[in-house]
Amino acid sequence: ADVPATLIDVLRDRAATAPQDEAVVELGGRRLTYAELWDAARRVAGGLRAQKVANGDRVALRYAAGADWAVAFWGTLLAGGVVVAVNTRMTEPEVAFVLENSGAAIDLAPGTALPDGEPHVVEGAGADDVAALFYTSGTTGRPKGVPTTHAGFVTNAENMIRCSGITRDLGADYRTLISVPLFHVTGCNSQLLVAAYVGGTSVIMPQLDVATMAEVVVSERIGYLITVPAVYALLLRYPAFAEADVSGVRVVGYGGAPIAPSMVRQLKSAFGEATVMNGYGMTESASLITVLPDADAVDHADSVGYAVPSVDIGIVPIADDPTVGELVVRGANVTAGYWERPDANADTIIDGWLHTGDVVRVDDAGRVYIVDRMKDIINRGGENVSSIEVEAVLLSAPGVLDAAVLPVPDEVMGEKVGAVLVAESGDLDVAAVLQHCRQNLADFKIPQFASVTGEALPRNAGGKLLKRNIRDEVQWGDPLR
Ligand code: ATP
Ligand code: MG
Repeated sequence: ADVPATLIDVLRDRAATAPQDEAVVELGGRRLTYAELWDAARRVAGGLRAQKVANGDRVALRYAAGADWAVAFWGTLLAGGVVVAVNTRMTEPEVAFVLENSGAAIDLAPGTALPDGEPHVVEGAGADDVAALFYTSGTTGRPKGVPTTHAGFVTNAENMIRCSGITRDLGADYRTLISVPLFHVTGCNSQLLVAAYVGGTSVIMPQLDVATMAEVVVSERIGYLITVPAVYALLLRYPAFAEADVSGVRVVGYGGAPIAPSMVRQLKSAFGEATVMNGYGMTESASLITVLPDADAVDHADSVGYAVPSVDIGIVPIADDPTVGELVVRGANVTAGYWERPDANADTIIDGWLHTGDVVRVDDAGRVYIVDRMKDIINRGGENVSSIEVEAVLLSAPGVLDAAVLPVPDEVMGEKVGAVLVAESGDLDVAAVLQHCRQNLADFKIPQFASVTGEALPRNAGGKLLKRNIRDEVQWGDPLR
């Protein structure tokens, strides 16, 4: 079948061919069929037009995750507007920055009713029109607005379905549980919009909680589970989950942050029937860049896999080794540039290639391994140490529940390696952890400082470690021996 040109075509087609199929389910809230979603979205579009939203105007979407979010998203597109997906965890000054930077004409703030008016569908929308602005997580600096075109969304959906071995006619058999934010690309592009693309159902969790999650996977017959490693960690430790019948789950996807190889093995055994896959991507690529397929999931658990069909990848070496360097990408799903950020564009998009800020290694088979973020690499007296690699070893050490590896400023070495360790329970035997590191890491990578805590490490809504926050607060104490 022909690939639809715009998201508007995607929804219109589903409303016409499968009006009674369930499109969106908000747990504890509304359930909408494709006909109902199409009608509700057209009324929102009419309401926005009545509020003078013209083609290309930005509409800030600040609702909590739920059915209204989805209706407002589609309604904005049908109005010809551009969705500005706002992180609901942002503080007031952060929101003010996003509203200002995006130049939003309308602010659908929490508590604001859905716009309502005579049903409306914009005419003449094209594949290259910008449909939404998503903001990057802001892990390494201020969030940047990323314009995403209809073609970008459709390309990502195509990549997603090809990599998970499904087709566009799957229909109601596709049921995905959205436990990650809708204001980031995984939840929106790779779940909500992929579900519409294949005519399936998005089951949205307004509040993340593992008890509900374990229950709903069964009661809502979830076949496609996608979330971040931090959520799987909670789920795997939740006692009632071990009893749940998860045989209906066909695909278990993870990504957004590095996963411990041991967790991949646990997922494999917890979801015996399912294929598991790692997806690596970023806001700038409308989600996926690489996928590690099930066949490689355990044997190459430290890899994020192969470039998806539409994406070209390259490496800009950071030292002598040509197989290690910054990953650069280009393709139909990669943004042409940040919104109103000429400074960031000049640094990031060079000769048509988008610089990801991720340092990777590529093996002979074409598998990509994330070595570290450029900004997190520790330079210990000229030796590059990957914080991610050291974290993976620490996570497999006795008594360690979680770990973050950071540079400790040092007058002689420039930087030394420091480890913040979360103890599984009570005291942590740091000597035993160090012994484990000596067995698994070259000497220059072994942490020279440690800080042990009983508290969870700060992560953002997308499950990413907030190293900048940790760095500001950590107390290192004496060097380890
Ligand atoms: P900012 O660009 O504002 O500093 P950010 O890069 O965290 O924030 P996102 O676009 O949400 O914002 O995240 C993309 C990044 O997440 C990637 O560049 C990579 O560092 C990390 N990432 C995504 N998927 C994976 C994965 N499967 N494994 C390891 N890291 C991942
Ligand atoms: Mg980034």
